[in-house]
Amino acid sequence: MRITRRTLLLGAGAGVASVLLASCTPEPAPTPTPTRTREPEPPPGVPAPAGSVRSTWTTDPFALGAVSFTPVGVVAGTRTALGLPIDDRVFFAGEATDEDAPGTVRGAIASGARAAEELMIPGSSGERVAVVGAGLAGATAAALLAERGVQVTVFEARDRVGGRVHSQVDDSWPVPVQLGAWLFGDDDSEVLDQLTSGDVGIEELTGELWRTPDGDTDPVDPQPFTAAMTTAQAAPEDSSVADALTAAGVDPADPATAALLAILATRTGADADELSSWLAPPLPTGEPKAARDDLTPFVEHALDGVQVGLSSPVARIAYDDSGVSVRLGTGEALSFDRVVVTVPLGVLQKRSIEFEPALPFSQRGAIAALGTGAIETVWLRWDEPFWQNEESIWHAVGADVLIPTWINLQPTTGENVLVGLVGGTAAADFAALDEKAALEAALASLTLWV
Ligand SMILES: Cc1cc2nc3c(=O)[nH]c(=O)nc-3n(C[C@H](O)[C@H](O)[C@H](O)COP(=O)(O)OP(=O)(O)OC[C@H]3O[C@@H](n4cnc5c(N)ncnc54)[C@H](O)[C@@H]3O)c2cc1C
Repeated sequence: MRITRRTLLLGAGAGVASVLLASCTPEPAPTPTPTRTREPEPPPGVPAPAGSVRSTWTTDPFALGAVSFTPVGVVAGTRTALGLPIDDRVFFAGEATDEDAPGTVRGAIASGARAAEELMIPGSSGERVAVVGAGLAGATAAALLAERGVQVTVFEARDRVGGRVHSQVDDSWPVPVQLGAWLFGDDDSEVLDQLTSGDVGIEELTGELWRTPDGDTDPVDPQPFTAAMTTAQAAPEDSSVADALTAAGVDPADPATAALLAILATRTGADADELSSWLAPPLPTGEPKAARDDLTPFVEHALDGVQVGLSSPVARIAYDDSGVSVRLGTGEALSFDRVVVTVPLGVLQKRSIEFEPALPFSQRGAIAALGTGAIETVWLRWDEPFWQNEESIWHAVGADVLIPTWINLQPTTGENVLVGLVGGTAAADFAALDEKAALEAALASLTLWV
């Protein structure tokens, strides 16, 4: 990957991570003040962590949400419409354009490959192509185009590549902190092969624990949920996941069902009352696999030999029969033959990039129709564990906690690290908290596991 001088000339992109207040956080130089801010009080039984980091994708200006989801009533094919090339000049990729696996690494990579394929029309070898966004979709498209002799320039708004794949490597953490994608399921074998051949270590997260405020409980049986979705998917009209459950006699507010919906929300970023039952992804099955290494070199490797401008937000894309003009936030405009736009759906919805002429109805309709969901994660570490179980995945059932799902990295890494996952409205609520309140909410969610 070649980083251009633009990296130095333009302002730094916004980082996504913010460090929570923690016992190890160095205090600023003491300034006497009449009232002192109270440190978060750890709830009984949960000691103050030695370190904590959380994601803030909901407010991140270059994501504006976590992943795309399909709201109730949105027709199949909407994502294909979003990804349709315009006049063979403007091409679209990104997880939101993938019909099979939206909101995933798999979908992002597949979309980048699809866009590169569409762009490689006869005569396009040797052309100048801009790729907007250096996430997995952009990196995949750029790599495939460069391989075929296209002169590719990638413009990335942040000061790093990877987008919603963000490993934070820091000496104070014994493992890379994964603020974006790092978990993979049964359908991800191809992605896992790519990761392992790129020297990324993969661990299977084994063992689940389901706990109510009264103690451990049996794993929630997904069968009634799955049956309700199967029935809803055969119905003549779409309904929300919540309505589909109710119609099948399953109460979405029942603690066991709510626990399954919380898992679905960490995958889609959406609540059950907004999610299409026709197009909702299935509940995850099997033991998830987790990347244990820094994922940045994997993305950088794809961009080897490609010109990448970091801290280069694109503000405007103008296109006509003769080519494409890409204007950066600085006002600088550059000419290309074609452009591949891979920015997240949230960025398109907020119209952070102006298109001239305006995008066709099919694209604008798809952008307006699809939903952007919220998923946030919080990483906490302790010098000593306060929990006494060796299961990797913990689910809260019927407990009034903001963060219902936790991943225990102790069994796989030997490190006392817990990772909280939250999706939907709860994630947006978590993202809206200030640092102190966010840590308090995270620790309060852990009292169940003492
Ligand atoms: C918290 C969280 C956890 C997740 N966990 C998983 C998981 O475990 N497994 C899984 O498969 N998937 C997971 N995902 C989803 C996965 O991360 C995404 O589907 C995937 O990374 C999206 O890749 P992309 O290339 O489509 O978009 P992005 O990675 O977002 O890339 C788009 C790029 O465009 C850039 N950009 C934005 N605006 C501009 C602009 N104006 N100019 C230039 N550049 C711009 C962005 O900075 C970004 O780098 C998770 C997502 C989140 C948020």
